[in-house]
Amino acid sequence: MKTKVAVAKGDGIGPEIMDAVLNIFKASGVQLDYEFVEMGKSYFDAGHSTGMTARAKETIENLGLLFKGPMETPKGKGVKSINVTARKVWNTYANQRDFRTLNGVNTVFSRAGVNINLTIIRENLEDTYGGIEHLLTNDVAVARRIITRPGSEQVIKYAFEMAKRKGYTKLACGHKANIMKLTDGMFLETFYEIAKSYPEIQATDIIVDDLCMKLVSRPETFEAIVLTNLQGDIVSDLCAGLVGGLGFAPSANIGDFISIFEAVHGTAPDIAGRNIANPTALLLSGVAMLRYLGLTENAATIENALLYTLEQGVHTGDFGDKNTPSSNTTDFANAIIANLGKAPEKGSAALQANFEKATKAGEKPTRNKVTETEPGISEEIMGADIFVETVLQPKQLAELAQSKLNNQFKLVMISNRGTQIWPTGSVFTELTNQSRFRFEKNEGQEINAKDIFNLAANISEVINVCSVEFLKKFGGKPGYSLAQGQ
Ligand code: NAD
Repeated sequence: MKTKVAVAKGDGIGPEIMDAVLNIFKASGVQLDYEFVEMGKSYFDAGHSTGMTARAKETIENLGLLFKGPMETPKGKGVKSINVTARKVWNTYANQRDFRTLNGVNTVFSRAGVNINLTIIRENLEDTYGGIEHLLTNDVAVARRIITRPGSEQVIKYAFEMAKRKGYTKLACGHKANIMKLTDGMFLETFYEIAKSYPEIQATDIIVDDLCMKLVSRPETFEAIVLTNLQGDIVSDLCAGLVGGLGFAPSANIGDFISIFEAVHGTAPDIAGRNIANPTALLLSGVAMLRYLGLTENAATIENALLYTLEQGVHTGDFGDKNTPSSNTTDFANAIIANLGKAPEKGSAALQANFEKATKAGEKPTRNKVTETEPGISEEIMGADIFVETVLQPKQLAELAQSKLNNQFKLVMISNRGTQIWPTGSVFTELTNQSRFRFEKNEGQEINAKDIFNLAANISEVINVCSVEFLKKFGGKPGYSLAQGQ
């Protein structure tokens, strides 16, 4: 029986490039059945708040596999991106993006004879993509950046397994743990913990800014890099630029039950409906899906035909030799079809399974999986950070807070934008209208959550409180950061 895949053509250039890709699949004898699902901008417009019909959701959940074109998120209607929502709701925790030098795609590196072949694994569910943002005052916005141990474990394990399957010898973890000691620190710690199970792969880490500099100066020295969501998003677009732009950047969103294959680029509204878009990124995403399904021969044949076509100088308007006429989307796809069975001179496709074969696709969990890595770990409340709206000077602020304290707590620090301004600070530090008090419990005091809320209530009698955050120790270790200058 043929495997069935849910296909959403998408918006803008989506239908044009999806038709091109499916025609190439058909011509090369790919044995798949497709179920076209209703998903995208027109479904938002028709009142489906998630951008898809109930039937589309059911089909995707039953089939476990979605091949999708780019989709537009309507602006200013309070709706979340359908692309991000789909990845998050269906727990596609690893975003894999493979970047390689494509012969015929002219870049500064290809002209210099530098061969790039690297894979970015981006965590796909967490970080700032939860979109949990608040205004604490009219002037001060904050976003929650959520990094979890189980989420980090899931994606990092995937990255090591991928590196092993692809025969890579090293995997780097990109991060900013020097600044974000708890969030990126947790990701990095998890990376080295998991690395112990993969002694054959050299595990290294690199601070993300240094990584960007090295990627643009020595991209050939990297094989695989795993990153948190936002940093991975930015670094992977940088890598797309290294190999010729977004038109050549495929992506796979891998989960245990549902996986989504799509191009990195968007709907390209500026060229939509003109049959001039470059279908390569979607085709490479489709090729990745074939590999995921174990159809490695089909994948290699199509990839070789694409590479051969590019090598021959056939190109759409967005790349290639400007002195030779460009092909439209249909002609570009037809050229690939005509070249099925041919292989490029340089760097032909490997008959390799880049992905673990989809084993659970189509299975359905009966309940939401909950993971806790160290159940029962000891927790102790040490105090609280209380965020307040104020334009008072640090000394006045401290006096006000201290006037509301009982013997349970002491005021240890005030900061503004994360920089300490009391008990010591600099008059050069400019202040916004939102500061943070750090209260710690006094020696010998046992405090609970209610004490913290009572403290916040007392403080609110004299200053406008905008948020409260607990200071806790976990397993005896502080679970909170110090202020700059503390
Ligand atoms: P975009 O990727 O659509 O376009 C950026 C530029 O790249 C444009 O000049 C476009 O013409 C060009 N381009 C993109 N893909 C191309 C292709 N295949 N061939 C030739 N040229 C191509 O980015 P944008 O303009 O920022 O976003 C447009 C819409 O797409 C927005 O609504 C956005 O939300 C959505 N989007 C969707 C996805 C997704 O579905 N995964 C990803 C990114 C953006």
